[in-house]
Amino acid sequence: MQIFNTKSALKSAIKSHKINGKKIGFVPTMGALHDGHLSLIEIAKENSDIVVVSIFVNPKQFGENEDLDKYPRQLETDIELLKNYGVDILFSPNFEEIYSKDSQTTINIGSIDKTLESKFRPEFLSGVMLIVAKLFNIVTPDIAVFGQKDYQQLCAVKKLVHDLDFAIDIISAPIMREESGLAMSSRNAYLSGDERKMAANIYKFLSQAKTEILVSNKTKQEIIHTIKTLKNNILNSGFNKIDYIELVDKDNLQPTFQTPAILLLAVHLGNVRLIDNMIIE
Ligand code: AMP
Repeated sequence: MQIFNTKSALKSAIKSHKINGKKIGFVPTMGALHDGHLSLIEIAKENSDIVVVSIFVNPKQFGENEDLDKYPRQLETDIELLKNYGVDILFSPNFEEIYSKDSQTTINIGSIDKTLESKFRPEFLSGVMLIVAKLFNIVTPDIAVFGQKDYQQLCAVKKLVHDLDFAIDIISAPIMREESGLAMSSRNAYLSGDERKMAANIYKFLSQAKTEILVSNKTKQEIIHTIKTLKNNILNSGFNKIDYIELVDKDNLQPTFQTPAILLLAVHLGNVRLIDNMIIE
């Protein structure tokens, strides 16, 4: 595996692969890799010749009081994992390599950045859009893989690619879960053993809600009732706060009472904020 820390070295490696007619696949990450990331790499391998993974903890997508400083960083372990997984290129730049001091450009993707996560983490999605756009221009991939775990982010990336004419196919990857049902996440490292067990209830409650919505007559009243029960279940099983639990349209993320749809949530367990979602169809 080739490891690059600079844009210029990465670009010249990619240029020679492209001259040889290779298709470039890209998986952007913030590191602390788990099987969810590896599933994205697997999809990238199936759909390209050369797989590029980036590891960059992007400060611009963290709010002031968020976990930037304590975000798990384990570059050496990640490198071993990626080598064993047959990744061709790792790009792991530092902050200065990515953001120049005079950088002022921001990206506003519109309505997708006004709902769900954006109401609670206003810096998040525009920070992600900026790094993704920059990485797309640096890596110039043919395809890029993003996880449904971060569903709003996935929709936003698709919108970015559409609106700014990036010639990149975005492939979405299903959520990888632990046996307990807990969605894999680098932030799960913050959970204690007991919290991990409690966090598995998210999947259980989402699955129950899905069944209820699908077997009910799907009237607005019934769906509102199901979501209310889901909220009560969450609060009665040790979670201390719900940021949102919403049923929305799968494409425009606007609230809906019709299926197919997607049920998304963000909840707090102790000091840890967890997100998850389930497609209802
Ligand atoms: P992150 O390192 O958290 O920025 O995530 C990098 C990519 O991995 C994003 O496209 C995420 O959606 C994806 N990802 C994270 N967790 C999972 C998971 N449990 N299943 C599938 N994809 C995931």
